[in-house]
Amino acid sequence: METFDAIVVGGGPAGSACAERLVQAGASVLVLDREEFPRTKLCAGWITPEVVADLDLDVEGYPHRFNTFNGIVVHLKWLKFTLPSVQHSIRRFEFDDYLLRRSGARLRTHNVRSIERVPDGFIVDGAFRSKYLVGAGGTRCPVYRTFFRDANPRARELQAATYEHEFAHRWRDERCHLWFFEKGLPGYAWYVPKADGYLNCGIGGMAEKLKARGDDVKRHWNHFIGILARRGLVEGAGFAPKGYSYYLRGGVEVVRTGDAFITGDSAGLATRDLCEGIGPAISSGHRAAESIIEGTEYRLDDLAAYSSDIGLVQRLLERAFAGSRLRPPETRPVREAVGL
Ligand SMILES: Cc1cc2nc3c(=O)[nH]c(=O)nc-3n(C[C@H](O)[C@H](O)[C@H](O)COP(=O)(O)OP(=O)(O)OC[C@H]3O[C@@H](n4cnc5c(N)ncnc54)[C@H](O)[C@@H]3O)c2cc1C
Repeated sequence: METFDAIVVGGGPAGSACAERLVQAGASVLVLDREEFPRTKLCAGWITPEVVADLDLDVEGYPHRFNTFNGIVVHLKWLKFTLPSVQHSIRRFEFDDYLLRRSGARLRTHNVRSIERVPDGFIVDGAFRSKYLVGAGGTRCPVYRTFFRDANPRARELQAATYEHEFAHRWRDERCHLWFFEKGLPGYAWYVPKADGYLNCGIGGMAEKLKARGDDVKRHWNHFIGILARRGLVEGAGFAPKGYSYYLRGGVEVVRTGDAFITGDSAGLATRDLCEGIGPAISSGHRAAESIIEGTEYRLDDLAAYSSDIGLVQRLLERAFAGSRLRPPETRPVREAVGL
């Protein structure tokens, strides 16, 4: 049986961030992922400056597509305005492969099915053994399923349903656009251009709210592609969208049991306003590694639940109401109204 200090299940941003820190500290680390990398991950691929800093990413030296926006064009009902904010886009197909290889961990394409706890650690599928086990397998993570599901059942009201397509496209508008609450969508739609002629268009909303109305993201998708065509943003594209769901930040109660940890989407860490999950995945991966290396407590309850300190939704509203005699609604009632 192959033996390691730590096995990380899942090679997305949470897994590679954790693996890299462990390897840097001298640990022997195996990352198991059921997909061969580079692999497709449905995601708009929007990353914040905090993600770039947390990863210590050398943007000049990054060998793949990297795009920077200086503003986001926000469409909110009848309003359209640009919110000044420096943000970036990458293609997950390239980014995740880059981070995983950069980690220096041993990699193995392997679909994890069964995990056994033994006195000195864990045995995975009877083939791999380790003292520490890190769950970074996203929504359907087997580490979550085996050791954490009973203590942290998924909260249905925090499930986000998405539908999206990324494709080669010679876009003409280089700006990132977001459409909030179109046709009553409890969520938003996005147009995110990537460097060198790639584009990601998608839509996401709170699954439970949609279901209660007999609605779904696919119906909103048809409305959305109509907007893209009318605005001349995307013409003549043969869309082939796919769906995926994940969980937003709830009360993250149990994130460690003995020497098993959960990180990223397996712990349901994406922010509640913009459903941003890459940053929380990386932060949690780093924290799990630090806890293993330093022997310190592993905590995630103080990770930000919203995408900016003062809340992007509130900033959007303040901007939308600027110059008007009307006052912006308070953040919390608005968040509750849209199910965030
Ligand atoms: C449509 C969409 C758009 C999004 N847009 C953004 C965005 O623009 N910005 C942002 O910050 N966040 C975005 N998110 C959220 C973000 O993609 C996730 O939060 C993030 O990928 C979580 O990273 P992770 O490492 O926890 O999991 P993942 O990236 O999902 O990685 C999990 C890995 O585990 C592997 N795995 C799963 N099961 C097993 C198994 N049994 N055995 C072995 N391996 C397994 C998978 O193959 C996968 O590689 C979006 C999500 C969706 C669905």
